[in-house]
Amino acid sequence: RMLKRQIACRNDINRMNGGLLAIYESLIPPEEEKTKQKQLLALLDRIVRREWPDARLYVYGSCANSFGFSKSDIDICLAIEDANIDKSEVLLKLADMLQSDNLQNVQALTRARVPIVKLMDPETGISCDICVNNVLAVVNTKLLLDYAQIDVRLRQLAFIVKHWAKSRGVNETYQGTLSSYAYVLMCIHFLQQRRPAILPCLQGMEATCTVTVDNIKCGYFDKVEKLYGFGSHNGESLAPLVWAFFNYWAYCHDYANDVISVRTGSTVSKRAKDWTRRIGNDRHLICIEDPFEVSHDLGRVVDKFSIRVLREEFERAAEIMQYDPNPCVKLFEPY
Ligand code: ATP
Ligand code: MG
Repeated sequence: RMLKRQIACRNDINRMNGGLLAIYESLIPPEEEKTKQKQLLALLDRIVRREWPDARLYVYGSCANSFGFSKSDIDICLAIEDANIDKSEVLLKLADMLQSDNLQNVQALTRARVPIVKLMDPETGISCDICVNNVLAVVNTKLLLDYAQIDVRLRQLAFIVKHWAKSRGVNETYQGTLSSYAYVLMCIHFLQQRRPAILPCLQGMEATCTVTVDNIKCGYFDKVEKLYGFGSHNGESLAPLVWAFFNYWAYCHDYANDVISVRTGSTVSKRAKDWTRRIGNDRHLICIEDPFEVSHDLGRVVDKFSIRVLREEFERAAEIMQYDPNPCVKLFEPY
């Protein structure tokens, strides 16, 4: 299947730009949603400080990385310095306090892989998940946001890819397909590979911000205002990029041997990471290295059934972008 064919892009591809950009625009959250999010965050901050005066709340995930659609839930991290706290105890206490403050649907999920409290604010109608001390997620959120500032085509492409994945049912980690976070990393990797490159490799440059989280040193170049226009030598617009993205994952990526690595701005070999065989539940059928937690394969959720579903969806999307008279409809058709 690998390198089955390398085809030239249809010559009317740029006709698709208008339709794809209109979809992108329609998914951007309106300003008033941001205002409501801030309002809820301020309320939660007041509640948390009553019990933990030194704690801080950080928004992470799609509400903070610029890849969020309208009406997304907010992901929040409660950062408490004290190393001796018991996360479950904190979450149960927090759930109690939120309930007495009239927040709705409060639920502590202390046994989840990432333990959280869920809640809904009746005032704004916004739902959110609060976790404790998941600082790595806050750091990778900033990395994604920083990449998005460099070239608007990343945000455009990632919105289209996320919208496609949600429409096609392949954005469900509990069913063995990929998280939104994984799809955004695939987009960053892809734009780092274009020639001329559309995105640089921030972790390959002089580190201007560094933090150590859970013994992992996270450093990269974050003065992104110095990189505006980095990709201007590449004039590709959204439609050809969407076409090339799906072609890359349908026909060009070497699933058997390669790991995509935003950290290195390239691919690394599965062999070098010892990701060549199944270990426990990690099957490594599509390998996406986490930029900071490099032993973590974001494709670990994918099994031998869902890898077929995923690859068939990439091929379907590539076919549509190549041949369909109206790709903007067909691409997002519910499965
Ligand atoms: P959506 O719009 O679908 O809610 P999202 O950007 O919130 O998208 P999620 O995949 O829900 O994306 O992830 C939220 C955040 O949690 C990510 O931005 C990332 O910081 C962190 N995260 C998610 N999955 C992982 C993972 N497997 N490993 C490490 N961090 C992760
Ligand atoms: Mg989310």
